[in-house]
Amino acid sequence: MNTNSNMNSNWHQRAAELKPDGRAFVAGQRVASLSGATFDKRSPIDGRLLAPIADGQSGDVDVAVADARAAFVSGVWAARAPSARKRVLQRFAELIRAHKDELALLETLDMGKPIGDSLRVDVPSAARCIDWYAESIDKIYGEVAPTAASVLATITREPLGVVGAIVPWNFPLIMTAWKVAPILAAGNSLVLKPSEKSPLSALRLAELAIEAGVPPGVFNVVPGFGHTAGKALALHADVDAIGFTGSTATGKLVMQYAGQSNLKRVGLECGGKSANIVMADCPDLEAAATAAAFAIFFNQGEMCSAGSRLLVQRPIREAMLERIAAIAKRMTPGDPLDAATRLGALVDETQMNRVLGYIHGGREQGARLHCGGERVRQESGGYYIEPTVFDEVSPQMTIAREEIFGPVLATIPFDTIDEAISIANSTEYGLAAAIWSRDINVAHKAARALRSGMVYVNCYDADDITVPFGGYKQSGIGRDKSLHAFEKYTELKTTWIAFG
Ligand code: NAD
Repeated sequence: MNTNSNMNSNWHQRAAELKPDGRAFVAGQRVASLSGATFDKRSPIDGRLLAPIADGQSGDVDVAVADARAAFVSGVWAARAPSARKRVLQRFAELIRAHKDELALLETLDMGKPIGDSLRVDVPSAARCIDWYAESIDKIYGEVAPTAASVLATITREPLGVVGAIVPWNFPLIMTAWKVAPILAAGNSLVLKPSEKSPLSALRLAELAIEAGVPPGVFNVVPGFGHTAGKALALHADVDAIGFTGSTATGKLVMQYAGQSNLKRVGLECGGKSANIVMADCPDLEAAATAAAFAIFFNQGEMCSAGSRLLVQRPIREAMLERIAAIAKRMTPGDPLDAATRLGALVDETQMNRVLGYIHGGREQGARLHCGGERVRQESGGYYIEPTVFDEVSPQMTIAREEIFGPVLATIPFDTIDEAISIANSTEYGLAAAIWSRDINVAHKAARALRSGMVYVNCYDADDITVPFGGYKQSGIGRDKSLHAFEKYTELKTTWIAFG
């Protein structure tokens, strides 16, 4: 399926024709798991069976790590000139673009997002990410230290060796690209463990990378569950680093595994409960409401940086809620294979029930359900929830504290900017935050005081590969995207050269 996309294509027919391959990808080839065991991957859009997936265990991880190590030691990738790695990765990005329809379809079938979003957002972002790191790698210089003239001290960056990447299901292609691109550009070998809920696009990406010229063994994918394949990778004594994206609870386990094994370096991109603060003097209420809705309903709310807490100054509370509810009504969940759909299915029944549980809990604790709150499209066999807005939420309520990871907005009214900042910061997370105000002093004060890795002023979820992404506090350690990502996947070396 190499053709350019057509938004009016018959995606149902294409989906019926697609035969995804769920086998692992090791040493440049598709392979069954050593035991031959598989698990069924069903689509959340209607419950259809997509493929049996190789159920990787520690033995499968051992083989993949050994292949990755052999590739690294051979120098077939790590010792190649950066400009040569660049050309291969640029071809990889081109192949992603050439397979846009196929990858978008895999993404939508696997995790339920609308096909229009997969085509417009996920595939192009993944390709751009690979391209950007490819472009960067032959433009990074080392340093010469200002030492005495009798010596020369150079400071250089080297690849770490074998990196394990563990990624979640909410943006399978993009999360994979954020890891794979800097890891490979820096010259490492890689073993990727995609989420058991969305393994298909990552497996296909590895095939495309090899087709582009990444040597076999450099990019391996072992699908499987977290407590088996993921744990084995994070515990492995011959893995030099783990690049992890997922929940804070799992991130804590990954750190423990590193401590229990070889003290491998751990980069963590974890959860969030981000506050979107709208002051009464917000410059454009319509824009703020649209951004607030997008910040919680895009990707079915399954976003780490979702603006899940809307902090509204009391005088504009009604006006904001009215506008957001109007947008929510236009975003009722639809068929993800229809190009006009804006809200798709949640990733599986477990996640849907988790989100419905939070909605139930919000009502029980006294929050007012402003709109939504119900499961819909049940007859499809898939897992859909209406965009949901709660009002009169207090900061102590569970829906104001815990990451829901669904299309559920908790609206918390406030009176002063100090109160808003205090509520915004009263969370274990620190991923993103936003402030909407016409007053530069208020905006600046808030931007400084908000304890989060990303702060948006009069916007939400501005995004570019050139800027770091990651969080304060229990939202993680280290950053994805931008040149800062190389800090996670390279070792710093000082070399002293003495002159006679
Ligand atoms: P998760 O923690 O359940 O799983 C993430 C990955 O870890 C999966 O591949 C899973 O199989 C694996 N895993 C699970 N248990 C493991 C274990 N014991 N050892 C090793 N690996 C294990 O998270 P999820 O439900 O897939 O994803 C949602 C979470 O990801 C949310 O909390 C979200 O905020 C977070 N997230 C963060 C970012 C970010 O950049 N900060 C981006 C996307 C998602």
